[in-house]
Amino acid sequence: MKIYKAYKFRLYPTNDQRGFINRTLGCKRFVYNYYLNYLKDNNGINRFDLHKDLPKLKEENEFLKEVDSTVLRSAIDDLCKAFSDYYAKRKGYPKFKSKFNKQSYRTSCVRGTYKEKEYSNIEVDLLTRNIKLPKLGKVKIRGYRKKDKIEGKILNATISRESTGKYYVSVVVEENLLGEKVTPTSIVGIDLGIKDLVVTSDGIKYSNEKVLMKFEKRLKRLQRKLSRQVKGSKNYLKTKEKIARIHAKIKNYRKHYLNDIANEIVDEHDIIVTEDLKVKDMYKDKRKAFNKSLSDAAVSTFLSLIEWKCKIKGKIYYKINTYYPSSQICSYCGYKNSKLKDLSIREYNCPKCGIYNDRDINASLNILLEGLKLHYNLVSLA
Ligand SMILES: [Zn+2]
Repeated sequence: MKIYKAYKFRLYPTNDQRGFINRTLGCKRFVYNYYLNYLKDNNGINRFDLHKDLPKLKEENEFLKEVDSTVLRSAIDDLCKAFSDYYAKRKGYPKFKSKFNKQSYRTSCVRGTYKEKEYSNIEVDLLTRNIKLPKLGKVKIRGYRKKDKIEGKILNATISRESTGKYYVSVVVEENLLGEKVTPTSIVGIDLGIKDLVVTSDGIKYSNEKVLMKFEKRLKRLQRKLSRQVKGSKNYLKTKEKIARIHAKIKNYRKHYLNDIANEIVDEHDIIVTEDLKVKDMYKDKRKAFNKSLSDAAVSTFLSLIEWKCKIKGKIYYKINTYYPSSQICSYCGYKNSKLKDLSIREYNCPKCGIYNDRDINASLNILLEGLKLHYNLVSLA
């Protein structure tokens, strides 16, 4: 089985390179907006017609010839995709692309041999921290400090400019390294929550980071400030940019944090058990609306990270039924205590066996036990 991996690097283009990237993005935007406008007065035109029209547009606008024609063609494909999303009622009517929003273009990797030497137009060199990109040449990158090499075959690279003005490149690689199945010798159950994002049956709690709270405070302050400012004014735009920057920081920080937790857990254990993510009582707490949206995203990212890492490391991953009341059952004696539906009870002594239970650790132990049942059923059935 082939798997695809994306490596995202921060890109540090020189002035010339930045100029070229911006021109490429500009041309792509031009083609997109031109045909969006064109389609307003011309019904019944399809993707094929637009592609056929493109050479004419290039003749009329010489500057379009400077950039990769696949980029221009992809602008048409993006536009058609936006329209099909619109007709399928997934999204609103396509809007004109603005210079100030996030933009990107993709280039495909081309390989060949030249004078008996292997040649490729996209190459990542993690030792010198450079990426070779079509028409740009070598560009400085940052990211993946612990890696010294990217395994697998590079398929394409997407160069993007965020609304904050930062540049990134995302390299998609085809890998063939599915881990050999391990013979399991350890198992862990994981409970997911809001206060502590991840609690394991080993008793380890990964908190919903303090750093995030700091970002959150700053974010709220800026949002208040924004609401007082005159819409569209210079200061308004400045605040808006600051907000975008904090959102990007949160996203970045969180991604690394979740990745570290997932690595730690999957390296440490052979069978990993979590709940399936559908309904969880923690989401019913409306007061935590802000945390909710962050948590929703974090939990689903975390679960897909776990699933992914288990796959490539040959570990076993089980998701158990969400309707299993993992937090109400005593993991020691099996007594079901429905008083525990009250989320404010964080720790208690079991009314039947008297054992002390931490709510989340107890839940993760129950999840572990359910996973164990599942594992032995699966094994004995096989
Ligand atoms: Zn008990």
